[in-house]
Amino acid sequence: MKSVDSNCVSSIGEFVDRFEGMLAGFTGVKRAVLCVNGTAALHIFLKMSGVEDEVLMPALTFIATANAVSYCGAVPHFIDIEERTLGADPRKLEGYLDEMVEIRDSLSYNKLTGRRMRAILPMHTFGHPVDMDPLMEIARNYNLTLIEDAAESLGAYYKGLHTGGIGKVGILSFNGNKIITTGGGALHA
Ligand SMILES: *Cc1c(COP(=O)(O)O)cnc(C)c1O
Repeated sequence: MKSVDSNCVSSIGEFVDRFEGMLAGFTGVKRAVLCVNGTAALHIFLKMSGVEDEVLMPALTFIATANAVSYCGAVPHFIDIEERTLGADPRKLEGYLDEMVEIRDSLSYNKLTGRRMRAILPMHTFGHPVDMDPLMEIARNYNLTLIEDAAESLGAYYKGLHTGGIGKVGILSFNGNKIITTGGGALHA
């Protein structure tokens, strides 16, 4: 209300700085940066990670996850989910990548398409944390950047860590259908 009354509802200013600080404190990340929405937050970080080829992501997610990848000219590579978490299934993924990936100069390539696999983008469905430890190990073994889509999981923790603050980077969303909303907007942490 204060923000609306003060006419300060822009992308910069006191309230944005305060919200970033509060979110970094709440989620335990070093730094939080507000973006226009969750899709843009994902897009920005995929770009920063040099993604232009192939990104692993769960077959069950919101379309924004796949859109952000295709905005980079890259291809979403869908992987199976597990019943317990409704997120990426690390055990299945291990066997799958073992067959699917060729490692050259410690980089991973899809044997069928020849494309570099550069990142993995797990999503915490409806606030249920994905089993992150084995996924992080897979990411290390295959030299994949792990980006967490925590758009649906503000307030959800995995082994004491806030979702979105576990991988290299994570995003939250404050769209109208999320846990809390600012009308739109997102966090890139
Ligand atoms: C809502 C959502 C997004 C994107 O958020 P927007 O702020 O609407 O762009 C991304 N991923 C998932 C899983 C979502 O549910």
